[in-house]
Amino acid sequence: MKILRFKEGNNIMRLNTTYLSNNNSYDGQIPLYIVIHNTDNFSEGADAKAHAKAQYNGNFDNMSAHVYVDDKEAYQTLPFNRGAWHVGADYGGRLFGTVNNRNSVGIEVCVQKDYNYEKAFLNAVEICSQIMKILKIPAERVIQHYDVCAKNCPSVIRQNGDWNRFKSLILKKETVVSEEKKTTVPLTERIPEIPFRYFRKTQIRSRMESAGKTVGKQ
Ligand SMILES: [Zn+2]
Repeated sequence: MKILRFKEGNNIMRLNTTYLSNNNSYDGQIPLYIVIHNTDNFSEGADAKAHAKAQYNGNFDNMSAHVYVDDKEAYQTLPFNRGAWHVGADYGGRLFGTVNNRNSVGIEVCVQKDYNYEKAFLNAVEICSQIMKILKIPAERVIQHYDVCAKNCPSVIRQNGDWNRFKSLILKKETVVSEEKKTTVPLTERIPEIPFRYFRKTQIRSRMESAGKTVGKQ
């Protein structure tokens, strides 16, 4: 099967873990959602590294995030199985109560002075897609901070009317990943989402055969 390669923003981004710590976090998070933010820190030098360093050094009073990404690089500052302090107070968000600081990964997209909006945007798409893959979080559970709290965040992405583009780009990457999986993961490894014990051997075989017929068509 021919695989469509994703062209935009496909620069290889690595999560830098130099400033990984447990600062300002909760124990026992189950990461089900990814929440996208803008830092709203427009100062000179307020890039991903500066934010990551500040969190690492204990300089944030009542806030934290898992990842800071800018127009150059990305830093992971908390383990994904720890809850960050990124959701905050509710102003009437549709997902408040559903998404919280113990079931979501917070990604802060930095907006330092003179930054390149498009590069930061595409880097955020890339890093978000990587985390989706690691944590098996589908695009439908990637949301704006606005959706949780009705806070105007990610403010710059929202101001540029770019949220739908963000969603369609991560969806494209998600599709590419699942297409790749279809061709590389052996059939036998993909079948047993239904526990084996419920089927006799013959039923398993017929299931594998019928699944085999649909490979590449789903
Ligand atoms: Zn936010």
